[in-house]
Amino acid sequence: MSIIKDFLLQLTLMVIPIFIYFTFITERVKSEKNRIVIMSILWGISIFICMSFPVSFGQNARLDLRIIPLLFGSLYGKFGSAIFLSALIILYRLYLGISLGFYNTVLVLLLSLPVILLFQKAFASSNKDKKVKIAVGLAFYYCIIGITFFGVLRGFSIDYLKVQIIQLIFVVVVTWFLTKLNEGIRDIHQLRLEMQNSEKLRVISELTSVFAHEIRNPMQVTRGFLQLLNEPDLSNEKKEYIQISIEELDRANEIINDLLSFGKPSINNNERIDVGSQLQRVVKIIKSYSLSHNVEIKTDLLENCWIYGNSQKLKQSLINILKNAIESMPNGGIVWITCTFTSDGFIKIIIKDQGIGMTKKQIDRLGTPFYSLKERGTGLGMMVSFQIIRSLKGKVQVNSEKNLGTEFIILLPQIN
Ligand code: ADP
Ligand code: MG
Repeated sequence: MSIIKDFLLQLTLMVIPIFIYFTFITERVKSEKNRIVIMSILWGISIFICMSFPVSFGQNARLDLRIIPLLFGSLYGKFGSAIFLSALIILYRLYLGISLGFYNTVLVLLLSLPVILLFQKAFASSNKDKKVKIAVGLAFYYCIIGITFFGVLRGFSIDYLKVQIIQLIFVVVVTWFLTKLNEGIRDIHQLRLEMQNSEKLRVISELTSVFAHEIRNPMQVTRGFLQLLNEPDLSNEKKEYIQISIEELDRANEIINDLLSFGKPSINNNERIDVGSQLQRVVKIIKSYSLSHNVEIKTDLLENCWIYGNSQKLKQSLINILKNAIESMPNGGIVWITCTFTSDGFIKIIIKDQGIGMTKKQIDRLGTPFYSLKERGTGLGMMVSFQIIRSLKGKVQVNSEKNLGTEFIILLPQIN
């Protein structure tokens, strides 16, 4: 019984740092890098606590739950976190004295750390269920290696094995529970951020529809008069001024269109849409624009990709994305558009360019109002597109590499 009590004590002390992390750090520390550093230090403290209160049995044998903080620090952190935590384990074990246990620790780490690092990337990009499986699998692997080395170095005995089996069960169950908990808390944080964002968007949309209507009328009147003034006998200089004024008004009008379509509550104009033919229409609309930018558009569209929604809005969202793809290639190039099905019931549209690409930071900012890197950009196109795709219950994924190109993957729920 006292063994279980010892493990429980370790567990209780070990989780304190992680609760500190979620309560005080996640929301306050904005930079991802600092967050990982703080998290690694807190997991380091967990390791320190585990190793300071081990379950003692047999000849100088100590067992503890250090794998759990090591595993979490490595999987949720970076390469450096894993190395830092492993170094901490070895140094602290060294401080406790060089004995069989020290060699045991080093050998187990040598065999398990590379495997943990191997799974680090896959873990980061996995969904919740797969994360739980990876974490539990790795914890199990570590314990089995630990038991094997322990046996080889000190000989197998039923009594030792009993304690180790208890450790294994503890480690696996706690890893399973903590991964679930961790993911659960992350979901809640994510949801909170999204809610804050949607509240912001709601306020913007209310404001914009009011402003847009007020500004549009006088602008249209001015444009009309400018066109009347633009007579053949006017001097070239004056003509140029008028042309510029008209262009600027058109630009303002474009911004207002974007704002309006964002602010307008969606009237229920929903219908069955064939995404393939909608894409063909979009390509036709944008043809002259792409030719003037020296861009060729290549399509590979399946037929009968049906979704349910507002076709005008879908069209606008695709045009915005396509326009960006064209504009990302100042020296021309190719844009590929494909439309296929996925096995899990989505229509998958891919729009891929060979343009200037984006850094991870730039991708994260995509869709925030007025974010634009273009001299004459409005920074509204992506905001509108994302909002439309969201309203169609779809998802967007953006993959991009600086100077190589960008790929927008749009998933929309399929109907029959
Ligand atoms: P705008 O096009 O008016 O600048 P958007 O909201 O359409 O506004 O796009 C925001 C920014 O995102 C752009 O200024 C550009 O820097 C970046 N961006 C969007 N799509 C791409 C792309 N396909 N390739 C490179 N950068 C892009
Ligand atoms: Mg744009």
